[in-house]
Amino acid sequence: MLKHVPTSAILPALLGVLLGAGAARAQGAQALRQPAATHRVHSLHITMLSTMLADRGIGEWGFSALVEADGRKILFDTGNYPETVLRNARELGVDLSGVTDVVLSHHHADHTGGLLTLRRALAAANPAALSRIHIAPGIFLSRREEGSDREENPMVALRDSLERAGAVFVVHDKPVELAPGVWLTGPVPRPNNERNWSPGTRIIAPDGLRPDSIPEDMSLVVATDKGLVILTGCGHAGIVNIVAYSRRLLGGAPAYAVVGGLHLFAASDQTLAWTADQLRSAGLVMLLGGHCTGIEAVYRLRQLAGLTRRTAVVAAVGSSFDLDRGIDPLALAQ
Ligand SMILES: [Zn+2]
Ligand SMILES: [Zn+2]
Repeated sequence: MLKHVPTSAILPALLGVLLGAGAARAQGAQALRQPAATHRVHSLHITMLSTMLADRGIGEWGFSALVEADGRKILFDTGNYPETVLRNARELGVDLSGVTDVVLSHHHADHTGGLLTLRRALAAANPAALSRIHIAPGIFLSRREEGSDREENPMVALRDSLERAGAVFVVHDKPVELAPGVWLTGPVPRPNNERNWSPGTRIIAPDGLRPDSIPEDMSLVVATDKGLVILTGCGHAGIVNIVAYSRRLLGGAPAYAVVGGLHLFAASDQTLAWTADQLRSAGLVMLLGGHCTGIEAVYRLRQLAGLTRRTAVVAAVGSSFDLDRGIDPLALAQ
């Protein structure tokens, strides 16, 4: 059973923003004004629990990160193999049993593969652990590769298993403030044609087959005094689209830090140059690029966006972004 949360009921202030008024309306329906009272997070720490590179624990093609914002913990994505995040958290001394809320950025197995194992393992210590799963519409849509009848969306089967394990899905079709100053974008408008996904997969929709652009892809955005800290899973909506939408949502604040997967590993030099230019214009100061960002892409973005060895780093398992202390790369990526 899905629990459809009326965003407007959670955050009346945002409804006013989305409806627009005065100057915002003059700029068109896409213009969002700053919410009346944007809470700012003062303490923020994001720890990588799944990505390719690992000094400690297990590396894999996958992504997961633990967000700690003013004492509130949220798990963002759950890695690829069932045991990876559970084992990496133990290895790193990170206790996930108190985490009740988990965000799935999108349906891909490398972000959702650990959730059932985590829920079952952690529920033994705390029945509420990972019991609320935040998603965007489209995550359960059936997918097929061209010429195949095999279901490509692991969430179709996981849905029942997770609900039987006591978890509840919370669907966000609009931006929502998950905790004070911690936002989920919901589905992200894509004015820039970044086409940041692999072609070949089709969505089986009521009106027929269509290319899978991963419409449910969403990011987590933290408002701070330094600007926005934006956490992406694979960035399938396109990192420039995600950054632009996050900034519009939160009053045009600079995009201080981008953390996570940007899906730029196969991007052309031209795309990387354009992306770096856009990120620099958005005010980017810190980049912890993990998972599908690509190693060369992180180095190119460092150079092209005017960042440094300390401020643009390839993420490793256990590496972290901290609002006060910056990026801790651990050993190999320093
Ligand atoms: Zn993906
Ligand atoms: Zn991915």
